[in-house]
Amino acid sequence: MEKKTRITDYFGKNVFNYAVMQEYMSPETYAELRAVIDTGKTLGLDLADRVAEAMKEWASDKGATHYTHWFQPLTGSTAEKHDSFISIDKKGDNILEFTGKNLSKGEADASSFPSGGIRATFEARGYTVWDCSSPAFIRETVGGGVTLYIPTAFCSYNGEALDKKTPLLRSMEALNREGVKLLRTLGHDVGRVTASVGGEQEYFLIDKNHFNARPDLRFTGRTLFGADAPKGQEQHDQYYASIRTRVSQYMSELNHELWLLGITAKTQHNEAAPSQHELAPIFCTANIATDQNQLIMETMKKVAEKFDLKCLLHEKPFANVNGSGKHNNWSVTTDTGINMLRPGRNPAENNIFLLAFTAVIAGVDEYADLIRMSASNPGNEHRLGGHEAPPSIISIYIGDDLELVMDNLVDGQKGEDSLKQYIKTGVNYLAELKKDNSDRNRTSPFAFTGNKFEFRMVGSSATLSNPNVMLNTVVAEMFKRITEELLTVSESERSDKAIEIVKRLYSEHKRIIYKGNNYTKDWAREAKKRGLNNIDNCVDAYDVLIDKRNVELFERHSVMTNVELQCRREIYLDIYNQVINIEVNTMLLMARSEIMPAIVRAKKELALVVNELSKIDAGMANVEMSQLITLSSLYNRFNDELLELDRLNNSASKATTCKKKAIIYRDQVVIAMEKLRKTADTIEILMPKDLQPYPSYADILFYE
Ligand code: ADP
Ligand code: MG
Repeated sequence: MEKKTRITDYFGKNVFNYAVMQEYMSPETYAELRAVIDTGKTLGLDLADRVAEAMKEWASDKGATHYTHWFQPLTGSTAEKHDSFISIDKKGDNILEFTGKNLSKGEADASSFPSGGIRATFEARGYTVWDCSSPAFIRETVGGGVTLYIPTAFCSYNGEALDKKTPLLRSMEALNREGVKLLRTLGHDVGRVTASVGGEQEYFLIDKNHFNARPDLRFTGRTLFGADAPKGQEQHDQYYASIRTRVSQYMSELNHELWLLGITAKTQHNEAAPSQHELAPIFCTANIATDQNQLIMETMKKVAEKFDLKCLLHEKPFANVNGSGKHNNWSVTTDTGINMLRPGRNPAENNIFLLAFTAVIAGVDEYADLIRMSASNPGNEHRLGGHEAPPSIISIYIGDDLELVMDNLVDGQKGEDSLKQYIKTGVNYLAELKKDNSDRNRTSPFAFTGNKFEFRMVGSSATLSNPNVMLNTVVAEMFKRITEELLTVSESERSDKAIEIVKRLYSEHKRIIYKGNNYTKDWAREAKKRGLNNIDNCVDAYDVLIDKRNVELFERHSVMTNVELQCRREIYLDIYNQVINIEVNTMLLMARSEIMPAIVRAKKELALVVNELSKIDAGMANVEMSQLITLSSLYNRFNDELLELDRLNNSASKATTCKKKAIIYRDQVVIAMEKLRKTADTIEILMPKDLQPYPSYADILFYE
């Protein structure tokens, strides 16, 4: 096992990284490719041929027989289609072949992926195009096959994005364009500005047998029924607790697999809910971080199989314990090594920081609807606004120190250097702890944490693409406006002008700064008074994509076109409708084929006992009789609620538009589902263990 060696001996071994490129390419080819990757130059076919040859040689040396273009359609997961390297030359001999054309471009039938109407207006063909900014890698499939994976963008014949990657790349380009302009206007000679992202990933691990025994987990990824276990997370004994053997074996295997893929798996720990865990890699470029997060999720699932475990990435697999999220840590860095969001020793005099910091605050306030939308998916509906996750109101936490710095700046006061405070532990021999610039309000959906902003609303199953498309674009917009204003004065006046802009932007957008507990009702009231955006469901959130102001923003920065935005909204609504419909079907299936027959059996057992005992003594079966009456009336209620759910679901299916259908699902069907579940859960705790049709929360969440 390679595990015994140092991590650095095998880290990135399955990645076609710079070191491997140098080994397999001539110095000229390598230099040309680096120019394409680093500066965004166009890739010629001749260069693509040479790179393809090197990739094929490396992959074949590692046992690869196939290659695949790997892309991220609008389903939110990834897609791949494998082709072998085998080919026949003119003489009829078998050869290994992989050309520049194979590498750069592939064809996929777009009609099999959601395209929200782009398909209808244009032809069905879709193209996958090599994204050389994210490294190719090899992966072993179960059974030992090895495949070369080429990260690609997926678009239509006319170049419309059919995927999650293309808008992300475009938004990074927008941020780069506007960031470079801004910095150059301030006299800084930079070549490139990039968004850096670190995505923390939460997940549940459960026993595979439990998973297989529950149709709801199998079909929907979450439990649709299930009474609480006697114990939940109230004792706070799961968070950071020591990790059980089986999980710890899983984690080391997972780390190993991720390290081979060049993913810097860094932090792991138990999360708040029983059987919930977290993994965080070290941040990197937004595009690579997004690709890597997809790989992390896929690897989490794959490795679980080895240990007879099942990894659940749904936002809310279990009611009444925490659900899972994904924290999107975001900052902007230059090719000269400046993190624009690093406050430094004296933030009040750090113009780059002040401008970038207020640009984020202003952008997130002005386009809060888009930020909210980027965390919207059907699973997250169960999380946002719960007591474990931020509400759907977007606010920003910047910490007391920076709030003081900003307030002093606006008031024209020179504040003391508050960033040098130390935490007093009261114990002399404990090392001096320097206070973080922010003391991390964990309830805030958007918090400044030292040298980055952390967006905490994203759902665990979601791609990191959407939140970063939004962040990159709204900040690019603010950078653009700031640059235009700076250019109205001469170079010598720009520094003063910058401070004037910062003061104004901060004052205008201060309403979004909030340091209190975001989970309280008081905050919802206060936020309303402040006029903050509060879209409390995803169906409405999707509409913001076609809001005129937002369409203009995306078109102005060439991130998405009106058509692309219309299509995306349609697809998201469609996905919402499909998810709810599948959930209802699963509920009906479980109710009719498992829950109701089990109740009938329990009633029969009781009836037999009542019958027998009454023969001996009239009063002897009183308790059983009342149990039977309770169960019977609950059974009747359950049946009525089931029929009502069925009826509502049918009426939703007849709706004429996606939006109308989604509204029926949201306002009627989901409520009927909750009602049915409540009755089922009341019945569950009355049922004998041997008649329970599937494993309970107690079985699933507390296992060894
Ligand atoms: P916490 O759980 O306190 O939020 P973690 O250390 O688990 O902190 O995760 C922080 C994440 O933020 C990591 O993925 C880390 O690499 C990432 N990160 C750190 N600095 C930056 C930065 N400048 N830009 C983007 N992400 C960053
Ligand atoms: Mg975090």
